[in-house]
Amino acid sequence: MNSGFEDISENIRRVRDNIGEALVRCGRDRDEVRIMAVTKTVPYERVNFAVSRGLSLLGENRVQEYLGKKEFYDSAAEVRFIGNLQSNKVKYIIDCVSEIQSVSSVSLAREISAQAKKHGRVMDILCEVNIGGEASKSGFSPEELHEAVCVICELDNIKLGGFMTIPPPGDSLHYFEKMQRIFEDEKASAPENADISLLSMGMSADYTDAVRFGSGMVRLGSAVFGSRNYSQ
Ligand SMILES: *Cc1c(COP(=O)(O)O)cnc(C)c1O
Repeated sequence: MNSGFEDISENIRRVRDNIGEALVRCGRDRDEVRIMAVTKTVPYERVNFAVSRGLSLLGENRVQEYLGKKEFYDSAAEVRFIGNLQSNKVKYIIDCVSEIQSVSSVSLAREISAQAKKHGRVMDILCEVNIGGEASKSGFSPEELHEAVCVICELDNIKLGGFMTIPPPGDSLHYFEKMQRIFEDEKASAPENADISLLSMGMSADYTDAVRFGSGMVRLGSAVFGSRNYSQ
């Protein structure tokens, strides 16, 4: 085959093998870990090739970039939003993503709720957890998370399904373990109308470790598409 995208085929094969091995090694081999292909800076042709190889779940970081690419995406793609989102941009994506994983404040959740209501839909969301308490990252601190979950579950037209996190660089094992504990605690204690079932955790550098600590979805950019020209 001469598509010019053989690197992606090879990367996908390797990623699937690695996840399969990690699941067996930690005794989760009957679980499924979904792979999200993170598309920032990647031309839509390469994204569509990944979709054709079964990575139909896409993660978008930037509203403008996504709006420019979305009409070119294969119709089999399912797009979820994972980037920093300002409240005033929610209206641009409310109708063209299936989930927003980067809900980092109650006020953002309120705006998503209001826009979803306006569009007659229910938006699936994850709360982003700033597990390392880093000033450079957004998300709820572990301490404020439970109360925020309770407030968010009262809002109309959104459905909380779990959490997304990015650990501080260098010490991901410790933070994955901490995040897994919080995930299990919230599963047990969140209000009934929440369905805390998804932990979105693990990126190209650390996804096999994230699998060990209960991740249900790994978000992979460079491990699938190769290194980016610039980082975002
Ligand atoms: C860029 C990004 C990823 C993927 O990063 P890689 O290291 O290329 O796998 C995952 N999640 C979020 C929120 C990102 O911004």
